[in-house]
Amino acid sequence: MKFCPKCGGPMVPVKKGENKIILKCQRCGYEMPAPKEIIERYRAVHKTKKEEKIISTKVIAKVEKSAVSKEDIEQAKEEYYELVLDQIGEYGD
Ligand SMILES: [Zn+2]
Repeated sequence: MKFCPKCGGPMVPVKKGENKIILKCQRCGYEMPAPKEIIERYRAVHKTKKEEKIISTKVIAKVEKSAVSKEDIEQAKEEYYELVLDQIGEYGD
């Protein structure tokens, strides 16, 4: 943990622009270039979180899709048979 040279507050890594990561004081807003090891750690943490989120979203989406589609197919089958039976009945008369 780095501390602000102006007020002694905690300096936290924040993303600035597309790819730049700086240290910013949470108390007074003082900014300084982040050391290389903090940039690398910040990127590693954020990359891992992003990948975990994508994986869990995919799994949830897969589970929801299979659960819904099975019922949808059964529902569609019932509706289809009813429609066919109705038509047969009409022609039968
Ligand atoms: Zn400060």
